Amino acid sequence: MMDAIVVGGGPSGLATAHAVIQARPGARVAVMERSDLRPRGATFGVCPNGMRALEAIRPELKQALMQHHCDYEQRVIYDRTGTRMPSPPGDSGKTRILQHGEYIQVAWHSLQSTLAEALPPGTLHTGHRFLGYSESSGGVAAQFETAQGVRTIEAGVLIGADGGQSAVRQALLGDGPPQFLGMAIWRAVRPRPAGWTDDHAVWGGIGQSIMVTALQGDLLCWQAFRPWPADKLHLIGGRRQAYIQENDGGSAAQQDGVGSASPSELGAERIRRCLDAFNEWPPHVLDLVATTDPLSVTEHGQFFRDPDTCQAYARGCVALVGDAAHLGTPMLSQGCSQALEDALELGRAIGQFGPTPEALAAYEAVRVPAASEVQRWSFKLLRQFQQGQPGPSEVDVNIDQGFIKRQHAPLVPAVTARSG
Ligand SMILES: Cc1cc2nc3c(=O)[nH]c(=O)nc-3n(C[C@H](O)[C@H](O)[C@H](O)COP(=O)(O)OP(=O)(O)OC[C@H]3O[C@@H](n4cnc5c(N)ncnc54)[C@H](O)[C@@H]3O)c2cc1C
Repeated sequence: MMDAIVVGGGPSGLATAHAVIQARPGARVAVMERSDLRPRGATFGVCPNGMRALEAIRPELKQALMQHHCDYEQRVIYDRTGTRMPSPPGDSGKTRILQHGEYIQVAWHSLQSTLAEALPPGTLHTGHRFLGYSESSGGVAAQFETAQGVRTIEAGVLIGADGGQSAVRQALLGDGPPQFLGMAIWRAVRPRPAGWTDDHAVWGGIGQSIMVTALQGDLLCWQAFRPWPADKLHLIGGRRQAYIQENDGGSAAQQDGVGSASPSELGAERIRRCLDAFNEWPPHVLDLVATTDPLSVTEHGQFFRDPDTCQAYARGCVALVGDAAHLGTPMLSQGCSQALEDALELGRAIGQFGPTPEALAAYEAVRVPAASEVQRWSFKLLRQFQQGQPGPSEVDVNIDQGFIKRQHAPLVPAVTARSG
């Protein structure tokens, strides 16, 4: 029997595994991930509070992640016709965040691979899709679909780290899917075209924009955002898990309702929809989209949960972390940092109480107030953005609400090692 099964090998799941092993040396932890680990996703920021949480879990993880940091100078702003706009005074955003600690910009898969490679061998199991679980007096028995058939694994606790469309959440709370926020997002990482000069730029603004960020290895990440009607959600993947492509586990194409279209045909359709959505924007920016390998383009709606409906992160032997627990909007750049804070506090609680319901309840008591507040502000900022209203910026909220100032005590390994 394992001590803990973690469902999901994204940032929250992998960091939770590290935290449990760090806090409780000798703990038997398994991370069950449905996909493989090939590069996917675009870039995101890890805020100073997230970096401190990662350091508190294991300082070496933070050092390893810093190697993937994509540093850039001031962001260049253009309107949707391509006319350069004045930059905010002193590029205040990044400078002001850096006053509160390290802030890094990394590719999603760099974070995933950094955390995965540092786990003890045999901890991470890819190709395992969570199906369901049952509770017993000694813990849980969880079922996974694998290429070899259904596998059942028993553990003291089950941790749902399976993202915004969490199956563990549905099995635990049954509160239905998250809400569609009325936004569509297209993203890709691609080679930098000859002559491309902008390392960090945004076209457009409130409500509709295309952002380009340079990555290591002469790569660029582009991300296009625009309002999208709910009655056309099915065209951009419906409620399909964000970022997952047709060849991840093979079931997303069926959910798309596209039958036998090949992954590259589907990718080409995504590019076409993105180009249609941004027609008449600067040609060289659209060319960046048009000449991207169709297989690397992701397309999805943006989803969110109301924080008032996210006040339970644990029940009995099952807990939720990261987006599975408190899916916010992307407006505060805090999704990953909150996932890392969850991992740290869950590890700390399991270090103190062992892999037990007491530990999960202690984790919930610490994290619900802290993560809810971030989730609530991320929603306020999204509404402001969608409605074109003036209001505090993402940076103002992160600083004024103290999110990026949060400090985290290091994990101290429990004296008691493996339990039974
Ligand atoms: C592939 C991917 C790419 C992303 N790229 C970006 C990005 O470029 N920019 C950005 O801002 N945010 C990105 N995100 C979202 C961001 O990482 C998260 O919002 C945040 O960091 C919280 O992380 P999480 O680990 O809780 O959830 P997630 O990052 O969503 O990770 C959840 C993990 O659980 C796995 N999973 C889901 N269902 C099951 C199941 N039934 N059985 C087993 N495993 C399951 C998923 O494959 C995934 O690896 C991405 C998420 C994913 C899954």
